Parts: sequence; structure tokens; C-alpha cells
Amino acid sequence: MGYLGGFAVTFRQRGKKQRVTREYAKGEGGKRDKPVRLHGRHVLNRYEDGMEKCIGCELCAGVCPARCIYVRGADNDPTDPVSPGERFGFVYEINYLRCIHCDLCVEACPTEAITESKLFEFSFTNRDDAIYTKAELLVDDDGLPQQLPWEDWGDLAEVARNSSAWVRATAPSGDADYIGKVGWSGELGFGVKDPEVGQSAATEDGD
Ligand code: SF4
Ligand code: SF4
Repeated sequence: MGYLGGFAVTFRQRGKKQRVTREYAKGEGGKRDKPVRLHGRHVLNRYEDGMEKCIGCELCAGVCPARCIYVRGADNDPTDPVSPGERFGFVYEINYLRCIHCDLCVEACPTEAITESKLFEFSFTNRDDAIYTKAELLVDDDGLPQQLPWEDWGDLAEVARNSSAWVRATAPSGDADYIGKVGWSGELGFGVKDPEVGQSAATEDGD
């Protein structure tokens, strides 16, 4: 098509109702709320005293269908342990070029060390950045996730309040009696849940 043909297309479209391009992920007053159980970027959790929950058992790596977790455990130094057990996760890596966010690693973990947050807005520009190391996955002293330059965590207060998007299959999910209760063992920043679908707001108020 020559440039005159291009002009013809333009004139033919004049006056027609055009499709409007909307801003990305905007709802009323900002970004839409994410679904309660959205599976996003992982975090490695710690106990409230700061000890790491990961004991380096490699069950998460063994169950991962995408084979994207690499763990190496090591013995704790009894005089300066990293985790409460004999072993800790010395190396922990997740390759996000392969992860399918199935949450099987979370299900397999015996200590609730690995959970998935709701963060899905993380776009890297090279392969190295896609491989998250333990230093990047471990929550900080306040129980908040490390914020990497290419991640958009949005409101961190909201993240801290309700970040573990997943509930263990054996948890009392759906039972209104458990609204607002700590669902995870003493964990930095994560554990109190908002009501889910099927849980009654009236019951939340004690009616
Ligand atoms: S969410 Fe699934 S694919 Fe991703 S690391 Fe865990 S087990 Fe592997
Ligand atoms: S995250 Fe959990 S399953 Fe994976 S190595 Fe650590 S303790 Fe084991």
C-alpha cells in the first residue's frame, strides 16, 4: 500500500466509533484488588524471632513440576544457627523463566517456609534477573518482601497485611469462624486472612 492508500484508510476511519485503549490494570480508584489466592512471586518466610523457616530439606525442589527450584542444605552452626533445626537452606534459587506458579512447592514444605505472594508485576530484562536467590526471596526483619527494582509491589502495607495468598489444603478454609485468625505459625508479617468467598461478613462481625 502506497502512502495515498494509507491516507485513504485514515479517511475511511474518520467519524467511526473507535475502540478505546484503557490504562493497564486500573479499577475504581486505582488497581483492582487481586484475588485472595492469586499465586505470585514467592517469599521465604522467617519466624518472629528472625530465624529462617527453611531447613533445606529439598522437598519443594523435588515436587516442582517445572524443576525450577534449586536448594542446597547445610548444617547449622550450633553457636550461631540460621534456622531452629539441624539444617538450613544454604542455597535457595527459583528460576522464574520456568515457574508455573502451581504452588506445589508451598504444599510440600513442612515448615511453611516458602509461600507465594500476590506479586505478578515483575518483568526482567535479562535471564540472570529471572533467577531469584535466597537473598532476594527472604523476607526482611519486618517480614516484608525484598523489593527489587523491576517489581511493582504497590501498597506495601497491604502486602504485609495479606500477602500469603495461599492457604494450605488442610487449613479451615471457607469456615467463617477462622476469619481474621492467624493461619500460619508465628510468621513475620503474614498470616491474618481477609474473608474469602463463601465466608459471611455477618459472621465476621459476630452476628
Ligand atoms: S510454584 Fe510450582 S512451578 Fe513454581 S517453583 Fe513452586 S512448584 Fe515449581
Ligand atoms: S522451602 Fe520448605 S520444602 Fe523447600 S527446602 Fe526449605 S523447608 Fe524444605
